[in-house]
Amino acid sequence: MPNTLVVDDDPHIETLFKSGGGGGTFTFARSDDQALHILEAEHDIDIAVVAIDSAAIGGMGLFKRLRGGRLRIPRIALTSGADLKLIRGAMNEGAVDFLTKPVSDARLFARIASLVRMKRLLDQWRMRKETTKILGSLSEDELEFDNDRESLIVLVDDGTMLGAGIKETLKKDNHAVAIIGGTGDVAGEAAAAGADVIIISLSSEGDVSLRLASKLRSLESTRLIPILLIGGEEDLDLMIKAMELGVNDYLSRPIDEQELLARVRTLVRRKRYQDSLHENFLRNLSLALIDSLTGLHNRRYLAAHLESVMGRAAKTGNPVSLMMIDIDLFKQVNDDHGHAVGDDVLCEVAQRIALNVRGIDMAARYGGDEFVVIMPDTSIKTAMKVAKRLYGFIAGEPFKVSGGGPGGGGESIEITISIGVTESRDGSCAPKDILKRADEALYKAKSQGRNQVVKAP
Ligand code: GH3
Ligand code: MG
Repeated sequence: MPNTLVVDDDPHIETLFKSGGGGGTFTFARSDDQALHILEAEHDIDIAVVAIDSAAIGGMGLFKRLRGGRLRIPRIALTSGADLKLIRGAMNEGAVDFLTKPVSDARLFARIASLVRMKRLLDQWRMRKETTKILGSLSEDELEFDNDRESLIVLVDDGTMLGAGIKETLKKDNHAVAIIGGTGDVAGEAAAAGADVIIISLSSEGDVSLRLASKLRSLESTRLIPILLIGGEEDLDLMIKAMELGVNDYLSRPIDEQELLARVRTLVRRKRYQDSLHENFLRNLSLALIDSLTGLHNRRYLAAHLESVMGRAAKTGNPVSLMMIDIDLFKQVNDDHGHAVGDDVLCEVAQRIALNVRGIDMAARYGGDEFVVIMPDTSIKTAMKVAKRLYGFIAGEPFKVSGGGPGGGGESIEITISIGVTESRDGSCAPKDILKRADEALYKAKSQGRNQVVKAP
């Protein structure tokens, strides 16, 4: 439930928010000083709505003071009229959105909910960024994002929307616009095109548009692309429902050109910010936590992940299983075929491991020709089955490598592996001990003649 700070000296505003029944809690401030005081003292405010045209509040001044400060809180500008110059000023000072009075309750709350969702998402990214920092990422440069890069708006036109008119309007802000039909693979096309924002017109069959919106939200490739819905004034209920499904904003027809531009600009900016957090995260992650040869997680990530898996198991009492895999006589592969072929084999082994474990399992390259798989909520009995299956998948299927043989022809190599498997039955085991036990089981497998799966006692 969002906690909204409302900064306005208009006495009616409290009634509107309190009677709105939009869920969440509200805190009211009647001056900018009071607002700052609340923001400093209370750490659970999700979003601030600030009247920018009230002299008593000095709302624009508040925006300026919040900008660049450490109080990272999304701010919505509230005005009593559609004074676009004022609104644009607020957006330049960091407002993420704007509302004009009188605001319909449902509209207001839907928009707040959408912004809070966005904030929580961004918080998550920031947290992950922190995690990668803790893990010792190399780059700590502050977030920068390019606001001037040309943006691509994908317009889903099912024939009822006057797409051409919207396209002309958007071009005024230098957006590139692609119009696609609503019947094909909208998600695929939008993702392939690299859409920054997707605009959907609510079709005569509202459900079709809602289904499309929720599909876009659920697919990995389009999950993070902001969606703007356009509908008639009579579609308000549907649009509110759409916002609950994760649509980020909506506009009612007839479309006000300036409002369309302002809303799209906000969404593009949001997308950019999110992308930069995402890229930053991925860059740090790949530098610090991914093994560059195989693309699996590296030992350092494994250590951090194992810590959190074991910590959780200690709370739930669920079992955790772990296997350690080592290629048999791998030195020989290098000696016989060369280091490059050895690298190919390592990559292929990594791929076969990654393909053969569940999504919540975590595979890492532990070092050299050694790999580890952590399996949360998994008993040793299941883990042994997984290990044997994996064994067959690697030892039972020759490896095709590009090879540097005469004529460059590919060659086929057969390898075997040894696996040590162990379990922490009730989550009571320390991370380093479970690794040690798996290592001991692996050692036993090696000393018993390799090419086998061994369960730790
Ligand atoms: P064992 O059955 O006892 O495991 O024998 P082994 O030859 O596999 O011995 P060990 O696991 O100790 O040796 C691992 C070898 O893997 C040593 C090294 O030459 C090779 N190796 C380690 N990292 C890489 C790599 O990144 N690329 C290649 N091509 N080889 C590597
Ligand atoms: Mg080996």
